[in-house]
Amino acid sequence: MIPRFRPRLDGRELAAVFTLPKKDDINCFEKEFAKQFEQKYAIAFPYGRTGLLLLLEAMGLKGTEIICPAYTCVVVPHAIVFSGNTPVFIDCKEGDFNMDLDAAENAITENTKAIIATSIFGYPVNLDKLERIRNKYPGIKIIQDCAHSFAAEWKGKPVNKAGDAAIFGLNISKTITSIFGGMVTTDDDSLANKLRSLRSQQLKLASLLKSLKRLFYFLAIYPAFSKQFYGLINQLERLGLLNRFVKYYDEGMIDMPKDYLEMITKVESRVGLAQVNKYREIVRQRKEIASRWHKYLKDVKGIKLPPVDNGATYSHFVCLVDDRKKWIECWRKQGIQLGQLIDYCIPYLAAYSKSKKGEYLVSKYFSEHTINFPVDNNVWAKLS
Ligand SMILES: *Cc1c(COP(=O)(O)O)cnc(C)c1O
Repeated sequence: MIPRFRPRLDGRELAAVFTLPKKDDINCFEKEFAKQFEQKYAIAFPYGRTGLLLLLEAMGLKGTEIICPAYTCVVVPHAIVFSGNTPVFIDCKEGDFNMDLDAAENAITENTKAIIATSIFGYPVNLDKLERIRNKYPGIKIIQDCAHSFAAEWKGKPVNKAGDAAIFGLNISKTITSIFGGMVTTDDDSLANKLRSLRSQQLKLASLLKSLKRLFYFLAIYPAFSKQFYGLINQLERLGLLNRFVKYYDEGMIDMPKDYLEMITKVESRVGLAQVNKYREIVRQRKEIASRWHKYLKDVKGIKLPPVDNGATYSHFVCLVDDRKKWIECWRKQGIQLGQLIDYCIPYLAAYSKSKKGEYLVSKYFSEHTINFPVDNNVWAKLS
């Protein structure tokens, strides 16, 4: 079975987890991350959402409205709510899967203090439009959610640098991973200082137990993605036996993981460091695979292909189909697992019904009709 996603792990990560911990493991990871993404500062967190939560606090935002996509990972509004602010959801526009920035501009009120611009599935947000909003409303902070867009570019400009700060998610399903973990990057000295000081006030150091749990999780993941094992894993997943391990949030509740205020571990930082050094090569491969999918699926009936965009990083290769279940079942029989990545539209979730203003028809359509193909060179052997 070809899994719907697969972390790119080799001996380097394995060597990293068995290296003795050093005092500055986290620091080394941050330094290398900042260097690779051409930013002055990178600050590591146990999760991307913890980074967003403390970033909003470091920006001094409380009791404000924060604009974010209706079609994004649900942990984003969770962090907004935990920070004492209110999410304002914006629908997508057909074309790519990103938030409609014209609609975002129209939703701005006196109380709007930040916009979370997400380059979903690796498709860069329209930085020209974002720049226009920024010039018109200089008091509004721009946060780039780069969880899917490590190195995505809009007309040659990296999206992560086009705002006040960027957040990254580094769990095992992302483009590069630090087991769990997240990162915030910025070029702003005083914001970075504030964020570091909030982090040291609010986060406790990772316990030995947490480090061991992360190590064992990683050692279990490692073989799980091999060809031999994955069929079994897929069976267990279909039977619902893995939910406790693969679902790290509950869509009906606004909550955070138990350890969201416990620092990223050193073992995660060492894995992250090994991965950061590979990310350009990983992204290069993803672009190539996406272009191969375009060719392969071009004449297939009943599927709408995603736009071709040289600045996109293809964290996922996402298409639209009418009957998603049928596609997933049919490809599973060929030994290829398709994913349904974001299969909810946040304002329609019970937990956010209070924030629902009108309908979000495009996002809702996406939540019901997207499937993603493995961005994995192992598929071609199955298809030929
Ligand atoms: C994964 C992800 C995040 C961060 O997730 P964490 O699990 O908190 O690290 C943020 N935004 C999007 C769009 C994501 O997919």
